[in-house]
Amino acid sequence: MKRLFVSVTIVFLFCGVLGTASFIAQFSTATAALQPGDPLVALMEQVQEEQLREHICYLQSAEGGEACNAQGSRWSCDGPAIDRAVEYGRQYFEKLGLRTKLDPYSLACRPGLSYNVEAILPGADPQSPEIVLITAHLDSFSQGVRTSRVAPGADDNASGSAGVLEAARVLSQYKFKRSIYFVLFTGEEQGLVGSRAYAARLKREGANIVGVFNMDMIGYDSDDNGVFEIQAPDEDSYQLGQLLITTTNRYGLKLTPEVPDQAPPWSDHASFARQGYPAVLIIEDTELGESEDFNPYYHTTGDTLQAINLSYARRIVQALVGTVAQLAELAQ
Ligand SMILES: [Zn+2]
Repeated sequence: MKRLFVSVTIVFLFCGVLGTASFIAQFSTATAALQPGDPLVALMEQVQEEQLREHICYLQSAEGGEACNAQGSRWSCDGPAIDRAVEYGRQYFEKLGLRTKLDPYSLACRPGLSYNVEAILPGADPQSPEIVLITAHLDSFSQGVRTSRVAPGADDNASGSAGVLEAARVLSQYKFKRSIYFVLFTGEEQGLVGSRAYAARLKREGANIVGVFNMDMIGYDSDDNGVFEIQAPDEDSYQLGQLLITTTNRYGLKLTPEVPDQAPPWSDHASFARQGYPAVLIIEDTELGESEDFNPYYHTTGDTLQAINLSYARRIVQALVGTVAQLAELAQ
């Protein structure tokens, strides 16, 4: 996450795509009681803490060191370091049988090409061309990384990346009417560079994106109160966020979602909102909400698995897969 304080809400309001709100609204059955045998319960139950822990362990570690060491880096300006993480994501998605590819773009601080990783679970219904995205940035940063080459970034953002990989594992076991894209970006800490290039390309290609769920820092909850934020830059994104809140409350996930008034362009969701797509940032409790419980190790070498609340992260990923499963609609 890259902090930038500018009131951008007004600008985004006018970019919202008419029609998407009504598309999303059809799914917000806030009042409907939980039906016995609701397939979403079993689907959400499959999200595992152990899977999240394994991904965070690998991503924070340096190659060749002891298991789960916190000496690694995924700094986008360091080609070998970031490409190791990109390759990890690509191989994992391939193993799940998803249509996977590297998405190249240029980053000023790195010679040659940089890559995002895109994995597609194709929709089963040609009449439903809409696309739902689950995203996170893979790259990390720490003060001093230019010399130390150490930026474990367990919370920022191995936690969100682990969420995307685990959502892919769970959702790829099902068939949906609509396509679900799982995307890991790089170049986020250099100014959302990877996601800007990606979102602009999908826009050029006329992609019909009805929702982007971007996870960035979903691992820190030291007071265990389950507060997390859904930052929505515009009205359509706000509606998308409401669906996540409805799902969280309806399935009793012991989380307290908050929608702060401000939605600064802190992460990759902003690249999609900029293109007029509904997009939310799912993040732990920052100072924008009513309370604050933000990771004190942010952008330091102390951002390691030790400070991660895996149960909290798991519940956020459960809320996300439950919401996306509704939006993509389970195919019979
Ligand atoms: Zn981040």
